[in-house]
Amino acid sequence: MIPEIELQSPQEIKEYQEKRLRELLPYLQEDSAFYKRHFEQNKIDISQIQTLEDLQQIPTVSKDDLQKNNEDFLCVPRSKVIDHVTTSGTLGDPVSFYLTDKDLNRLAYNEAISFACSGVTADDTIQLMTTMDRRFMAGMAYFLGARQLGAGIIRTGSGIPELQWDSIEKFNPTYLIAVPSFLVKLIAFAEKNGHDLNATSVKAAICIGEPIREPDFQLNTLGKKIKEHWDIDLYSTYASTEMATAFNECSAQQGGHLHPELIIAEILDENEQPVNAGEVGELVVTTLGVEGMPLLRFKTGDMVQAHDESCTCGRNSLRLGPVVGRKKQMIKYKGTTLYPPAMINLLNDFSGIDGYVIELRHNELGTDEILLRIHAPAANDILLKEVKDHFRAKLRVRPNVVFESKETLDAIRFPKTSRKPVVVVDLR
Ligand SMILES: [Zn+2]
Repeated sequence: MIPEIELQSPQEIKEYQEKRLRELLPYLQEDSAFYKRHFEQNKIDISQIQTLEDLQQIPTVSKDDLQKNNEDFLCVPRSKVIDHVTTSGTLGDPVSFYLTDKDLNRLAYNEAISFACSGVTADDTIQLMTTMDRRFMAGMAYFLGARQLGAGIIRTGSGIPELQWDSIEKFNPTYLIAVPSFLVKLIAFAEKNGHDLNATSVKAAICIGEPIREPDFQLNTLGKKIKEHWDIDLYSTYASTEMATAFNECSAQQGGHLHPELIIAEILDENEQPVNAGEVGELVVTTLGVEGMPLLRFKTGDMVQAHDESCTCGRNSLRLGPVVGRKKQMIKYKGTTLYPPAMINLLNDFSGIDGYVIELRHNELGTDEILLRIHAPAANDILLKEVKDHFRAKLRVRPNVVFESKETLDAIRFPKTSRKPVVVVDLR
């Protein structure tokens, strides 16, 4: 089930997207209060925007714009809204997203073709280890996609390893959708409670929320940790509420495939110019086919590398490598540019480390400093030196490291207001 457009040549894909872009612009001008104003204030004549290159004439839109003008992005009357979701904003309050009936169909289509990209068929059964409610978009998207594809689904939700194992043994799922670090917990639970990992029906996991690969597509520490214990295929998926679109890996596992009928992607440098081929830059997206809250040139804040060579699976669509970090969390450390995920990857190499927080601050010279606050049950100087040496060897930085009690660290890691554990504290 590969959509026809994804098999066409890069030039045909580009022309197709330009046609869709030319349909989107009048819709935004007419029905989006925000974009109408955005075009007026920036003197944009939409009839002059014909190609993907022309898009660069339109100023980008940030998460701040989305937060400050949230309701102005809605293109339909509230009576047409079916599903109400929120995603974290930049200023504390969440940002609202509204989906119409058409948007729910688009979401189902998006997830169905994304699942298919990762090898899921109507014969598969998926165990969904993520939340369906709490105003999240993702869980519902997975459910709708599985249904459209004709695959079975088991909605276990997040957490509770015992329930997960009970469901695996009762319903024999072939695919799991999970946060990869939760798979590590599931493995530990299985080993402790006598579940035979390699005797299950599970053949693959679709990994959400955390990278499992290095930029060269080799499994990272987390990915390897899973694979060493449990011989299942691991597929990355990258998505967000704003994009309402997923980028799933195919069997080649060389980056997440873009679906040209759903989204236009640009990779921009610090001056908002396209990066040279193969360079890391910020992903900027334009959604296609969204009725409720379409976005034009939205800056995701995610730093990624795009790959445009055709894939062995036959698709000619762009592929995105793992997210190397958030743009805001970029660290310039003595001439080296790095992002927290690379540090998280290294900290995961130490089985003696129980938990950690990466603290970023400016020193008196105004340059970046990294402090790793670590809890290790057997904290000692040898571990301290090993951590510093490992960082110097792999990332060419030597961060400050302090050991913390479990209580101190947990107070930082699990604030009441956050959906996910805090790993990075940015005080800059
Ligand atoms: Zn492929």
